[in-house]
Amino acid sequence: MKKGKIFLYCILAFIVFCVGCLATFGVYTLILAKPESDVYISGDLSIHFMELGNKYVGDSIYIKCGENDILIDAGSRQDSAETIINYVDEYVDDNKLEYVIATHGHQDHIAAFVSTGKKDGIFDHYKVGTIIDFPISNSNSEILQKYRSAVEKEVNDGATHYTALECFNNQKGALRKYQLSPSVELEILYNYYYENQSNDENNYSVCVMINQGENHYLFTGDLEEDGERKLVKYYDDNFGGLPHCVLYKAGHHGSGTSSTEELLSAIKPEIVCICTCAGTCEYTQNKDNQFPYQVTVDKLAKYTDAVYVTSVVDVYSNVKSEYTVKSMNGNIVFTVKNGKYEISCSNNNLKLKDTDWFKNNRRCPAEWK
Ligand SMILES: [Zn+2]
Repeated sequence: MKKGKIFLYCILAFIVFCVGCLATFGVYTLILAKPESDVYISGDLSIHFMELGNKYVGDSIYIKCGENDILIDAGSRQDSAETIINYVDEYVDDNKLEYVIATHGHQDHIAAFVSTGKKDGIFDHYKVGTIIDFPISNSNSEILQKYRSAVEKEVNDGATHYTALECFNNQKGALRKYQLSPSVELEILYNYYYENQSNDENNYSVCVMINQGENHYLFTGDLEEDGERKLVKYYDDNFGGLPHCVLYKAGHHGSGTSSTEELLSAIKPEIVCICTCAGTCEYTQNKDNQFPYQVTVDKLAKYTDAVYVTSVVDVYSNVKSEYTVKSMNGNIVFTVKNGKYEISCSNNNLKLKDTDWFKNNRRCPAEWK
């Protein structure tokens, strides 16, 4: 063999050796970098109803599906941002939220999107792909103005912004259904109050369904009775009805003015998650009407006893009319893996009916006895 050929074979052998080493190292690094429990294979899904780190009522729900990170609402106070970011950062590995949904213009749903001035809001911390929000608001609150400015800034930085109505109508590039993985889609439902005035801001709520094959998960923000009835009727008239829902985020923090019999009998929920501070007197001193309302408990009991609540009043002072808050279930995590779903919570997995707060503050419906 000529010297030149031997040299060429040596070079080729060296290249093959280097490629082999790199490939082995790459696979090894991937395995080390991602513990198995953190790997979300296509089709797997987790939905996190977060505690917001303060005593106020508010919604913030983080959804992980494949490589997609979704945030529905951002809690009750601007300082909730730190709590939300600390939690979500455990799951987001590219610092990007592919979808952000703001259901309506009330403080307890949009506050932490914006900065406090000293600390980052959600929009400051994350790069955002698509923002979907409410077409109408009656409010001109300071927090809503700040939210609007923050959205505008995100759009200037490259985010896409659609209203829920544009999504439902597939207008201007917006989509009614976004494919999150081969088996999971995010669907923006129709709400009559996307295009009609209401005197209740809650009725403008963006309504979202996550579809995973035959499993459906429903989020209606703070939609009220009237909005729910119109939602049910619209889907009855046009789509053969809303589907049975494995998971339902109780409307309006478990208020008796949502979760109507019409909606519940249509979706027949199996698992109900409530983002609230149980027993809060933020809105009323009437114990039956503190979240979650007694009447809501009675209505839900006809369908399921798997009801979970993020937080609960801890110490209440009658003198000061003030209270502190602690975890009830804590962060409630609904996970689907390999077609099976389960609930696991950061504090405990007790159903509402088995909690001390329930035993001391609610009359147990016959179905739960
Ligand atoms: Zn609310």
